[in-house]
Amino acid sequence: MREEMGLEQRVEALLEDPAYTGHPLKQILAELFTEYREQLRQMERITRISDHYQSMARDSNLSLAERYQKQMRQLEKIARISDGYQHMLHDLNQALRQASTHDPLTGLANRRLILDSLHAEIGRCERNGAHLSVVMVDVDHFKLVNDRYGHEAGDLVLVEVARYLQRDLREYDLCGRWGGEEFLLLLPETHATEAMSVVERMRLGMRQLVIMVGDVDVTVSASFGVAEHRLGASVNDTIKRADAAMLAAKRAGRDRSELAQ
Ligand code: GH3
Ligand code: MG
Ligand code: MG
Repeated sequence: MREEMGLEQRVEALLEDPAYTGHPLKQILAELFTEYREQLRQMERITRISDHYQSMARDSNLSLAERYQKQMRQLEKIARISDGYQHMLHDLNQALRQASTHDPLTGLANRRLILDSLHAEIGRCERNGAHLSVVMVDVDHFKLVNDRYGHEAGDLVLVEVARYLQRDLREYDLCGRWGGEEFLLLLPETHATEAMSVVERMRLGMRQLVIMVGDVDVTVSASFGVAEHRLGASVNDTIKRADAAMLAAKRAGRDRSELAQ
C-alpha cells in the first residue's frame, strides 16, 4: 500500500503519523519538505515565465519572417519594374541607334553610317594594303518619275531600287543611301576591274527591273561611278573620285558606268 503512494504523499503521511511525534528526524523532515515545496513552486513559476518568453519570441520571429517576406515581395516588384524599364531603355536605344544610322524610307545605311564604315574600311586598307572600291549610283531622270507619277510613286521606286542594289551584294559589302536618289556602295576586298564587272551586271539588271506603281509599270536606269581607294588618300578624296566618275557617266549619256581617274 505504501509503495503505491507517491514520495510526497508518503512524506506527508509520515509527518502526520502521531507515532513519530517527538522523533528528532521529524522536525528536519518537515523543514526539508517545506523547503522542497517552496523550490518546486519557484521552479514552476520560472517554467511559466520561460514558456511565456518562448511564445513571445516565437510570435516576434513570426512577425519578423512576415515582414521579411513582405519586403522581399516589394523588392521583387521593384526589380520587375526596373527590369521593364531596362528593357524599354534597351529597345529605345536600339531604335535610336537604328534611326540615327539608317534611312527611314529604304532602311539602308544613311550617310553617317556609310562614312563611319568607309573610315573603318579605309583604316583596314592602310593597315594591310587591301583593295577597296567605292561606287556612287544615281538614278537617271528621277525627277521625271516624280513628275509623271507623283512623289509617293517616286518613294516606292526608291525603295525598290534600294532593294535591288542590295540584292546581290556580299555579306561584307555595304549599300547606303547617300541622299535623294543617290546611293553609295562599299565593296571591300575588291579592286577596280572587279568592281566594274559587278557594277556592269548591276546596271544591266536595273534596266530589267519593273516596278509596279498602281497599275503602271515603271522602269529606271542609273549611272555608276567606280573608284578604287588609293592608299594614303582621304575618305573624301575617294568619294569625290567616285562622284566625278558618276557625273562623267551622266555626261556620256547616262545608264552607264565609268571608272574614276
Ligand atoms: P539625273 O539623271 O541628272 O540624275 O536627273 P534627276 O532627275 O535624277 O536628277 P535631279 O537632281 O534633277 O532630281 C532628283 C530628284 O529626286 C529631285 C527630287 O525631288 C527627287 N528626290 C530626292 N529625294 C527623294 C525622295 O526621297 N522621294 C522622292 N519621291 N523623290 C526624291
Ligand atoms: Mg542626283
Ligand atoms: Mg538622278
